[in-house]
Amino acid sequence: MADRSDIIALMRRFAPESATEPGFSDNVGLLVGSARGVCGRVLLCLDCTERAVEEAAAKGCSLIVAHHPLIFRSVSRVTDETPTGRAVLAAARLNVSVYCAHTNLDFCDGGLNDFAAETAGLKNVRPMTTDGGIKVGRTGDLPAPTTAARLAAKCAEAFGDPRAAVAGDGSKTVRAAAIVNGGGGDIEFLKLAAESGADCYITGDVPHHVALYAAESGMPVIIVQHYATERIYISRLKDILTEAARACGLDAEFIVSESERDPVTTVTEEL
Ligand SMILES: [Zn+2]
Repeated sequence: MADRSDIIALMRRFAPESATEPGFSDNVGLLVGSARGVCGRVLLCLDCTERAVEEAAAKGCSLIVAHHPLIFRSVSRVTDETPTGRAVLAAARLNVSVYCAHTNLDFCDGGLNDFAAETAGLKNVRPMTTDGGIKVGRTGDLPAPTTAARLAAKCAEAFGDPRAAVAGDGSKTVRAAAIVNGGGGDIEFLKLAAESGADCYITGDVPHHVALYAAESGMPVIIVQHYATERIYISRLKDILTEAARACGLDAEFIVSESERDPVTTVTEEL
């Protein structure tokens, strides 16, 4: 059976921990627990919550590989009074280690940026920008010219997000688009998208002032829910790690979390 350190080594080879977002203090790597210990099963998820830890323990997983850092900024106490504290305490109590790969998993070859570009149907995919050798975002061509509104409808279907929307001119002709999965709602990213030759930009977590900039600058932004642009990658990560483990002769099983839900639901789902 594999050891936790074997699985962590696979992750480090695929998404080196040093290759995080330039100028951004990301917190990646082993964040809770020991790097040693028998590991026959690994739970994969976007967010390591207390519920995910309990699911891991129930399914015999001694390691969780999550995308978003469980501990993002430094904390001064770990108690059961916060969601993060409860997840950390559960992980310690149930002997589940937590490894997080965030922006390093976004930018690496075959990572979330590449997968999001593929899902959006982009071809000839290249980095949106390169900073210190790190490829940030992706830009690609549409198979045929379309409009921002039609591309938004395509993204709604491809990412499984009926809430996908356009900020700015939906009738604009789009030949190339840039994409940053997750929360890329930043005016600097819109500018980089335009510089990369894209006619529109696809991302999540777009605040009003960025939507306004998109409308006024003529660079439409297709808004897809953060969770939707990233959760579908977890199944791809399972395939990648399963193949990498097999190639190394490691006996380990990778399981996609079934307890994870988008924290944002549409009101109609609730009615
Ligand atoms: Zn994210």
